[in-house]
Amino acid sequence: MIITLKRDVCRSVFELVVGRVKKLGYEPHISRGKDFTVVGMIGEGADKWKESFESMEGVEHVSAIQKPYKLASREFKKEDSIVEIGDDIKIGSKKVYIMAGPCSIESREMVLKIAKAVKEGGATILRGGGFKPRSSPYTFQGLGEKGLKYMREASEEFEIPTISEAMTVEQVELVGKYCDIIQIGARNIQNYDLLKAAGKQKKPVLLKRGMSTTIKELLLSAEYVLSQGNYNVILCERGIRTFEDSTRFTLDLNAVPVLKKLSHLPVILDPSHGTGVREYVSAMARACVAVGADGLIIEVHNCPEEALSDGPQCLLPDQFKSMVKELDVIAKAIGRYIL
Ligand code: PEP
Ligand code: MN
Repeated sequence: MIITLKRDVCRSVFELVVGRVKKLGYEPHISRGKDFTVVGMIGEGADKWKESFESMEGVEHVSAIQKPYKLASREFKKEDSIVEIGDDIKIGSKKVYIMAGPCSIESREMVLKIAKAVKEGGATILRGGGFKPRSSPYTFQGLGEKGLKYMREASEEFEIPTISEAMTVEQVELVGKYCDIIQIGARNIQNYDLLKAAGKQKKPVLLKRGMSTTIKELLLSAEYVLSQGNYNVILCERGIRTFEDSTRFTLDLNAVPVLKKLSHLPVILDPSHGTGVREYVSAMARACVAVGADGLIIEVHNCPEEALSDGPQCLLPDQFKSMVKELDVIAKAIGRYIL
C-alpha cells in the first residue's frame, strides 16, 4: 500500500504517519518525489489499514499496489530512480554509462592494462570478476580476494569505480570492501538469501536477469534487495535462452521498454553475454543505446585468445574505443550522451 502525502506536509505530520506505519509492525519505505512524498507500507495485510490512513491529516491519498513487486514498481515511484556512485556517476540520468573490463581478473598486470585501455576508450566503470560462476568446475574459478585487490589498485590508479560479482552471502561483504557496485549474476538471480544480504548493505547492486527468468521474476528479485532497505538497484538484461543457437543467448531488447514501463529502476544491457560472439557485440551495443539503456556492460580483453573465460565475446581495446565513439553518436540522437 502507498500513502501519498500532500506536497507541503510538515515534518511532524510526516513523522506521525511514519510512526503509525511502524507501530502497526511494517517497515516504512520512503520515496521523495518532486511533487509528493510517498510512504510505502508493504507486507501482508497492509491494505486493510487503507481507510484509517486516508483520514489522517496531510494524507493526499492511499492506494494499494497491484503488482506483486511493490517497491520496484512505477506505482510506488513515478520518477526514474538514479543510482549514484561517488559524486559524478548517476546511473539512470541522461548520460549512458559504460562498464567495461575483462570477464575475469586474471592477474595484476592484465587488470591494470585493461583498466587503462577501457578508461581511455570511454568507460566510466571497470568490470572484472574475482569470483566466477563457471558452468564447469574444471575451468578457471577466479582469483578471489586477490583479484579484488588488483581491481582496487587499478581503480585507484586510473580513478575509475569498479563492479564485481558476489556469488555467496559471505562474498557480498568482501566484494563491497573492494568494489563500488556488487553484481549478482544471472545464475544467482533467485538465490534469495544472497539477494537479502545484498539488500542489507549499502553499496549499489547490479542485478542480472537469469537466462530463464521472466521480467516479473527479475522485478521480484529486485524487490528482495529493495525490501531490505537498499534502494540502489540497477537491472541488467544479459540475454535469455531461446531455441536460437547461432548466438550464445538472445538479448531481449524488449525488456528495456517493458522494464521502463513497469519499474523506476535503471536498466543496463550486456551485449557481450547476450551474443557471446565478438563480431556481433558492437551491432547489438548500438541497438542497446537506441532502445534506451541507461548503461552497457562490455567485456574487453587485450588478448582474447588467451582469456581464461569468455574470450570469444571479448572486444579488443581498439574495437571497444571505436565502438564507444559510435555509441555516443546514437546516444546524442536520442537526447543522451556517453562521452
Ligand atoms: C559476467 O558478467 O561475467 C557473468 C558471469 O555474467 P552472467 O551472470 O550474466 O552470466
Ligand atoms: Mn563473462
